[in-house]
Amino acid sequence: MTLLPGSTIGMLGGGQLGRMFTVAARTLGYRVIVLEPDPHSPAAQLADEHMIAAYDDEHALRSFGGKCDVVTTEFENIPARTLEFLTQFCPVRPAAKAVEVAQDRIVEKEFVRTCGLSPVPFAAIRELADIHTATIQYPAILKTARLGYDGKGQITVHSAQEAQDAFLQLGQVDCVLEQRVALEREISVILARSVAGEVRCFPVAENEHRKGILHQTIVPARISPALVQAAQQAATQIAQCLAFVGVMAVEFFVTTTGELLVNEMAPRTHNSGHYTLDACITSQFEQQVRMVCELPFGDTHLLSPVVMVNLLGDVWHGSQPDWLSLLQNPNTKLHLYGKREARVGRKMGHYCTLADNVADAIQQAAQIFQALEQDTPL
Ligand code: ADP
Ligand code: MG
Repeated sequence: MTLLPGSTIGMLGGGQLGRMFTVAARTLGYRVIVLEPDPHSPAAQLADEHMIAAYDDEHALRSFGGKCDVVTTEFENIPARTLEFLTQFCPVRPAAKAVEVAQDRIVEKEFVRTCGLSPVPFAAIRELADIHTATIQYPAILKTARLGYDGKGQITVHSAQEAQDAFLQLGQVDCVLEQRVALEREISVILARSVAGEVRCFPVAENEHRKGILHQTIVPARISPALVQAAQQAATQIAQCLAFVGVMAVEFFVTTTGELLVNEMAPRTHNSGHYTLDACITSQFEQQVRMVCELPFGDTHLLSPVVMVNLLGDVWHGSQPDWLSLLQNPNTKLHLYGKREARVGRKMGHYCTLADNVADAIQQAAQIFQALEQDTPL
């Protein structure tokens, strides 16, 4: 059943993805209730209501579920049991099963294979002995199976001995040992899937990481039309296999030998989709509103070449950056998430620089970033 404006959407999680969703939902006339334990979260600042509670607080979930017409999420580590529990009150989109797959790298990579796609060569490591039976080429990366993000919980290793040390260092939790592949490029596909099972992809994004964290996204990606199609098709296949409802992302590696490998997926809107806010007819956040409320798709057309650059706490240098200097570029849109404290590696905001062609967008965005990094006026 379509939920019209005026209905109430419950958002599990209060981070920046929830914040940008909240703006999109309220723009369309919906009410938003955020459930998030942190009293000072980016999303709650802008929501109609904030329930401060843990994600497994049954009493709070009952009250939350009772007030919402539909529940969605911005955080992939919401316990599956929480999503399941809420289904007694209202639809939950995406469903627990679809979210759960992305919570464990071992499950996720095995799932990718069952979809007929290729993950990066990996071995599941549950105990020390698994390292020695793994047929992985070194160098490799040992990653915790659960709760890793922005390169956290990952250690590069050059031998089985180093992998063993790394496994101990990570506390002997379940891990994947993944071959480190030579990357030509990283790309991602953000897509939306409706309750009826239809899929719409956003334009493919090209992503550059620094220290394991997304630095910038370039759109359109500088890849062949055939690769665009292959990536969108692979992402669509994953969404179909998951029977996913809402907006999700798939990250890919393009290897130097031209292979397309699935890196990981996110059962939610994605940092590499922030460019859609300023450069597409419909943003990924509006599309999520549309999907969870059973509204029609918004058009996903790219209106202009764009580069999105993340603003980490690293560029704060004690006080906030020189925004006036950044805003002197009239084709640049600044987004800040309202986080109180800037820390190294913490995502504080982003900007999108639009230009007539990708090369100009890259150059202008880089110039702005350099000034921020060096704390000098443009
Ligand atoms: P996270 O959950 O932190 O995003 P990822 O597995 O996506 O973890 O790793 C973060 C980044 O580290 C990737 O986007 C890529 O740049 C690099 N990376 C991760 N795994 C590999 C690999 N197997 N080979 C080469 N680079 C990798
Ligand atoms: Mg990643």
